[in-house]
Amino acid sequence: MAEFLYIHIPFCLRKCLYCDFLSVPYDASSAGHYLDALCRELELKKDNAGTLRSIYIGGGTPTILSEKHLRKLLECVRNNYVLSSDAEITVEANPGSLDRTKIDTMLSLGVNRLSVGVQSFYDDELKTLGRIHSADDAQRSLTLIQKSGIENFSIDLMYGIPGQDLASWLESIAKAAEFSPMHISTYELTPEQNTPFFHLLNSNRIEMPDDDQILTMYACGIDYLESRGYAQYEISNFAFRDYECRHNLNYWDRGEYLGAGAGAHSFLNNMRSKNTGDIGKYIEELASGNIPIREPLRLTPEDSLREHLFLGLRKKQGVRLNKSAIFSENGIALCRELIDEGFLEIYRDSIRLTRKGFPVSNAVIVKLFGIFGL
Ligand code: SF4
Repeated sequence: MAEFLYIHIPFCLRKCLYCDFLSVPYDASSAGHYLDALCRELELKKDNAGTLRSIYIGGGTPTILSEKHLRKLLECVRNNYVLSSDAEITVEANPGSLDRTKIDTMLSLGVNRLSVGVQSFYDDELKTLGRIHSADDAQRSLTLIQKSGIENFSIDLMYGIPGQDLASWLESIAKAAEFSPMHISTYELTPEQNTPFFHLLNSNRIEMPDDDQILTMYACGIDYLESRGYAQYEISNFAFRDYECRHNLNYWDRGEYLGAGAGAHSFLNNMRSKNTGDIGKYIEELASGNIPIREPLRLTPEDSLREHLFLGLRKKQGVRLNKSAIFSENGIALCRELIDEGFLEIYRDSIRLTRKGFPVSNAVIVKLFGIFGL
């Protein structure tokens, strides 16, 4: 029985230039039909859920929904699922679509955590990303959140933006920390194919900072956040003690979860599956009472080991040796080169990526797959 629920809202006011998430331009009528389908899916899936410890509403831009639709969604969850008394209920919030009334509505419906996609406190960087909000909007939204009494909120920031330098990056992190969020995420901007951003890069109309600059931004970001009391608990995530994101930790720990919404993934009974990403089909199939599942995959032991490595090693604490089928004494010996080169280390009862290993985690993990024949 899953104790974690993810809900996807695939609407945004406008597509950001770098975005390859599942999201389409918002209109109230499509959102209404989508919400009907989503509630139907939530009803159909409820028997797979235990007492929920976390609900995460992501997107897209969940805060673009009207108060009426937000209410409908959260009431549907509450009417069909049992929530633990301390359930973490997170909504991803966009500073361009957040106001006092929406915050109050979410609070009244039990939302107790907001994850705010700020990305930068510089207008020229936000413009390069094609975000709908300005630095002023971000500051205004964060002030509203603070005043609302929501203590548990997170700020997402991005580094490696064309035109960004170390000084502006550190200034953005410092501005974020001034709002005293319990959690901060710092993501490297990755140009994804088939995005306008990728084409701008390819036609030399914008230029990424070079690899050394990006590594320096990452390292200085960690130093700054740690100096402000935030503990890094994953490659890109930092939090005050006990404020790590429950939803994400469960994902990296390979815990079960239910996903609802177009393109949402689920992991249950050793089976990974995802819903169709075609919003029209999603609505249509649910109208006839079917959950539009695609690509169900029962994991083989090798699949599970691969996941165990690439998800577990994302966490700062790494992989517990006594919980791992591959890091026996022999297994550790096979990793000796990566340990000697300073990419991996044995720390207490775990094996984990080092500060040097984190920024090149993908390469280290591919090497581990090779070593263990996965
Ligand atoms: S707000 Fe997020 S999901 Fe929406 S377009 Fe921008 S990056 Fe994509």
